[in-house]
Amino acid sequence: MTVTEQAPTSPLSGGPGLPQERRVVTEIPGPRSRDLHARRTDAVARGVGSVLPVYVAAAGGGVIVDVDGNSLVDLASGIGVTGVGNASPLVVEAVQRQVEAFTHTCFMVAPYAGYVDVCDALAELTPGDHQKKSALFSSGAEAVENAVKIARVASGRDAVVVFDHAYHGRTNLTMAMTAKSMPYKHGFGPFAGEVYRAPMSYPFREPVPISGEEAARRATTMIEKAVGADQVACVVIEPVQGEGGFVVPAPGFLPGLAQWCRTHDVLLVADEIQSGFCRTGDWFGCDQEGVVPDLVTTAKGIAGGLPLAGVTGRADVMDAVHVGGLGGTYGGNPVACAAALGAIRAMREHDLPGRARRLGELMLGRLTALAERTPAVGDVRGRGAMVAIELVRPGTTEPDAALAGRVSAACHAEGVLTLTCGTYGNVLRFLPPLVIGEDLLADAMDVVAEVLAAHA
Ligand SMILES: *Cc1c(COP(=O)(O)O)cnc(C)c1O
Repeated sequence: MTVTEQAPTSPLSGGPGLPQERRVVTEIPGPRSRDLHARRTDAVARGVGSVLPVYVAAAGGGVIVDVDGNSLVDLASGIGVTGVGNASPLVVEAVQRQVEAFTHTCFMVAPYAGYVDVCDALAELTPGDHQKKSALFSSGAEAVENAVKIARVASGRDAVVVFDHAYHGRTNLTMAMTAKSMPYKHGFGPFAGEVYRAPMSYPFREPVPISGEEAARRATTMIEKAVGADQVACVVIEPVQGEGGFVVPAPGFLPGLAQWCRTHDVLLVADEIQSGFCRTGDWFGCDQEGVVPDLVTTAKGIAGGLPLAGVTGRADVMDAVHVGGLGGTYGGNPVACAAALGAIRAMREHDLPGRARRLGELMLGRLTALAERTPAVGDVRGRGAMVAIELVRPGTTEPDAALAGRVSAACHAEGVLTLTCGTYGNVLRFLPPLVIGEDLLADAMDVVAEVLAAHA
């Protein structure tokens, strides 16, 4: 499927007919965006930031069109959410049908089939062919919190192990689980207790190269010594880290952790909120090494932009919780469930895992060539369409966050929406919608290359 093959609709409809082009017609942000930004500054709390304050009129395929008529190439997907696009026809139709039927009853009051259908799909698609059950929520942080609640009840233990560079959300418990202080935790404590941090496998930043198996032993030894295996309810890990810098652990790290968890009756929770739903070129990040977690958290890519999240896991673990112990007013909202079913259909029909692998090859090929002639590019890494470069002072591993900021800003000025990430803020990450056209992606990578050549 390419976006251009679809029937044209109004350019501002956000539908698939949106011209798939990079087009800069004003300064970025333009005058209308600047007007809106002035209003926003008076009305919206300062703590809610925006990477690029261009105000959106429409989005779809691989572009975001702003209120000044600029068309930006989207390498952000709303932080890995719109894998199927911002206006996937299958999502739009499913949402429209559901919204006309009913918007809400609350699944805990009067249930509906869409919720059950999403849980069936999660059982089928997540790693492992054991019996699974799910509970649905509205945000990723809520899913992570609930995974911990479930793991504590099921194990009768308290301790939660997380990793360096981890990101799990902004609620009180998930702030404790997130590694980076500024901006996520700074001033917001005290944080929840019984959260312990173990060393991650971060191949580019190992002082001495070590294998994934050795890195897993380093982590589990720390857990045994500092926490005690019999105190640990769960180990929570992102199979490919998101906000922490698109860190891909060395092969053998995840299987090593999984083996240790099995040996010690510790539940392994894979936080697949950013890596899941086709992003890494498989349905889930764990699939690459055949790791089967006890619990999986999902959100972001699951529902084509509508707020939905899930915890899916071993039926016996999920059912350890008493009736009424899980839920929430909006969790598994019928419109969000309809969107998820449409999005999952789009992922299957358009083979989005395959698209993610193809886009990943294109990006890694370009970025690897770029790294060879740009000493400031210290590392190129990623899996599928979850790709990043880490910028450093040439010849060292010393992070260069200022360069990442300058490069990202220059890309924005040229009409390419990029994001930075990483504990040190020096990682440029690329996560386009999986339905982006290859020509458009190549054009965006040309811009990245030119901008890097000018600034590095
Ligand atoms: C974004 C993210 C979360 C938090 O999800 P929200 O929907 O923002 O609450 C948790 N874990 C990972 C890995 C994420 O990328």
